[in-house]
Amino acid sequence: MAGPAATGAAPPTLPVLPDEATERVLASGLLPELAHAFGGPFHFLLPEAFDTNLRGMREALASAGVEGFVYFAKKANKAAVFAERAAAGGAGVDVASVGELCEALGHGVRGEHLVVTGPAKDPALLDLAVRHGALIAVDALDELDALVALADGGPGGRIRPARILLRCLPPGQPHSRFGLSEPELATALDRCVRAGGALRTEGFSFHLSGYALQPRADLAARLVGLCLAARVRGLEASRISIGGGLPVSYTDAESWRGFLAEQHSGHYHAAKTFHTGDFYPYHSPVAGAEALAALLATRPEGHGQPLSRLLSDSGVLLLLEPGRALLHQAGATVFRVQGVKERAGYRILTVDGTSLSLSEQWFNSEYLPDPVLLPQTPGAERGTFPASVGAATCLESDLLTWRKIPFPSRPRTGDLLVYPNTAGYQMDSNESPFHDLPLPPKVVMDRTGLPRPRWRLDRHFT
Ligand SMILES: *Cc1c(COP(=O)(O)O)cnc(C)c1O
Repeated sequence: MAGPAATGAAPPTLPVLPDEATERVLASGLLPELAHAFGGPFHFLLPEAFDTNLRGMREALASAGVEGFVYFAKKANKAAVFAERAAAGGAGVDVASVGELCEALGHGVRGEHLVVTGPAKDPALLDLAVRHGALIAVDALDELDALVALADGGPGGRIRPARILLRCLPPGQPHSRFGLSEPELATALDRCVRAGGALRTEGFSFHLSGYALQPRADLAARLVGLCLAARVRGLEASRISIGGGLPVSYTDAESWRGFLAEQHSGHYHAAKTFHTGDFYPYHSPVAGAEALAALLATRPEGHGQPLSRLLSDSGVLLLLEPGRALLHQAGATVFRVQGVKERAGYRILTVDGTSLSLSEQWFNSEYLPDPVLLPQTPGAERGTFPASVGAATCLESDLLTWRKIPFPSRPRTGDLLVYPNTAGYQMDSNESPFHDLPLPPKVVMDRTGLPRPRWRLDRHFT
């Protein structure tokens, strides 16, 4: 077995799948100009990739003969442009706070195309959701009661019926803090029947952690059954939401297998160990729209037909709430190397940002796809130069990458370091102005087919 003594061998790489638009931006010469203009790290967004991903999912639904509707899970990225693209592409947005709801409305998404998820929702959020005709995934009995009271009206009388889904606690994930247990679901259904016109009980929902298809197909089939039973009691029950969790492939199968087999603590700064089970699965045999197609073709346990048939035969509309999968290849993050320090057998680069711009550290994990080093002065020495990447902060553990990345040229101060494919969760979930460092701005790039892409800020500041 290789151990920390094997420092002579180069640590493993994890190359990303090729992406033309990203490569063209890297080759365009725009990134050094923007780094100069902003004087700090920044993100660039590729909304055309979002459009492509969305189109792929809608096509997967259509070719399986399934009527469906896609909501973009907004928590995966805060940029305004993705809400705009969702609206333009005929999708809705999944929101979980007043802020997200207002952002989505303000960027063109109609209230009826919002789904409101999250536990124990703020009364102000429920109020706005009902007024705007958003669909609300009810997570608890007290929330259901609050909605009935709200829809039945305060001083001004009834606002309008609250459109709801009942969120189910997945039987396979009984320790989840989300969703209604079976007895709670039975009580909720009784209350829905009793609530009459205050509620429109449109169906049921779930969100599973993990990325396996079979448990999603099984639970979806269960929810179709719940719809049929609820209809007998006079409830609408016309749709189910299967939440998010469509997997994304960042790298090819062989690289991922090789990486997992080879990596050991000697490959990380300070001999840090990560549990491989905590890493995001950076390769999936099917991903994105293909994973959706595979899910629809999956035969739920105890059924003779694929999920797609079950849905169409029951007249049940399929809702989904992908976040990460809609953002595949939709952006990247650019840092500047501020300093290079030599250590035994590797170096530590310090960049001009923090690990808060790469959220995996939040999960005792790290973002593994290889960043690209863009030398900014000619004559960089070629070879293999392993380096870890530290942040511009005074915290010992603030590393963007503990892994010793084997760079193909000697990293130098002033070089740019581009972390690819960061739009899904890696970009801004955890960002804060720690140390009074400014938040990295977001630059929207389009017309990436031209030699020089066009860019603008995601938001226009006044
Ligand atoms: C986080 C979340 C999603 C999005 O999950 P992805 O893995 O990004 O697709 C969808 N629905 C709910 C309820 C969520 O909490």
